Amino acid sequence: MQPRDLSTHSVYRAGRGIEEVAREIGLDPDELVKLSSNENPLGPSPAAAEAIQQHATHSHTYPKAAHTDLTDAIARQWDVSPSQVWLANGGDGALDYLARAFLEPGDGVLVPDPGFAYYSMSARYHHGTVGTYQLNKADGFEQTATTVLESYNGERVVYITSPHNPTGRELPREELLTLADRTDDSTLILVDEAYAEFASTDSAIDLLGERDDIAVLRTFSKAYGLAGVRLGYLLAPPTWADAYERVTTPFAASELACRAGLAALEDDAHLDNTVELVRWAREYMHEQLQAHTWPSGGNFVLAAVDDAETVARDCRERGVIVRDCTSFGLSDCIRISCGTREETKRAVDVINDIV
Ligand SMILES: *Cc1c(COP(=O)(O)O)cnc(C)c1O
Repeated sequence: MQPRDLSTHSVYRAGRGIEEVAREIGLDPDELVKLSSNENPLGPSPAAAEAIQQHATHSHTYPKAAHTDLTDAIARQWDVSPSQVWLANGGDGALDYLARAFLEPGDGVLVPDPGFAYYSMSARYHHGTVGTYQLNKADGFEQTATTVLESYNGERVVYITSPHNPTGRELPREELLTLADRTDDSTLILVDEAYAEFASTDSAIDLLGERDDIAVLRTFSKAYGLAGVRLGYLLAPPTWADAYERVTTPFAASELACRAGLAALEDDAHLDNTVELVRWAREYMHEQLQAHTWPSGGNFVLAAVDDAETVARDCRERGVIVRDCTSFGLSDCIRISCGTREETKRAVDVINDIV
């Protein structure tokens, strides 16, 4: 007996955990600076951590009230109706719900290259086929309607990442509108705003009231520092009615995740501190790194090096973990997440020494 043919599927390779790397190079995990997964260097909101502790003793019940309360709180935050909020186990879980709700077997999707690996994985799990549009290094990885439309062929879903991972580039709003207008009525533009809190361009969320061909993805993993609890959501157009209820796993987000999310949404100070730190760190890296960097709207900076694998290894041996972008198809780039001031300075020193 065998599972179905999975030969076209790829394996998601997460960056290695800090304990694993520390053991390998014989350092204490506390001595390592981990800037490879775009995590929040300030940790979770203290209010969220407390909410998790407080509600630990309720873990035996299904998350009914918490799920509803968080959905309502998110709906209020964005001025949408609760039925438009698709809570999920991380943004990745929301991508799966979208594919479940949207794709018929054989439907095509269009994803960026370089880009976030899970778009195509999720589409393939749901029997979709995958095409790519290129973001070109020669054009500074610029994102425009044209860069996408050049490769567009009537696909059912077009994935846009803005700010884009790993390049940091954003798709300007007028380009998004042009793209949505020029694609077929049956094509959805999914705008992945995993890093939007750090960006200067406006969110696409306010477009949801006006049109039914744009949906927006958000996560608590980055700006809210809750990557470990797995909480994200999709915001759908109002016309999709009860599609979520028809595709969701029962209780898509856990009790503890919902409680953490509710507390995090109230903690403006933690969010503000995070965004301020990220802006400082981005600036610092742009100014101080002795390598070409690209403008970034995210909590990371992409930097050009000769050989990413070697540079990342040399950094690791000196206790600084950065992301080798070879798996994104950029074997001459590293991605450095914004750390605390101290971590960011140390990373820049180490990288400058190496390159
Ligand atoms: C981190 C990230 C997500 C969401 O991650 P989750 O932890 O599953 O919420 C989505 N898209 C991009 C581009 C990301 O970098």
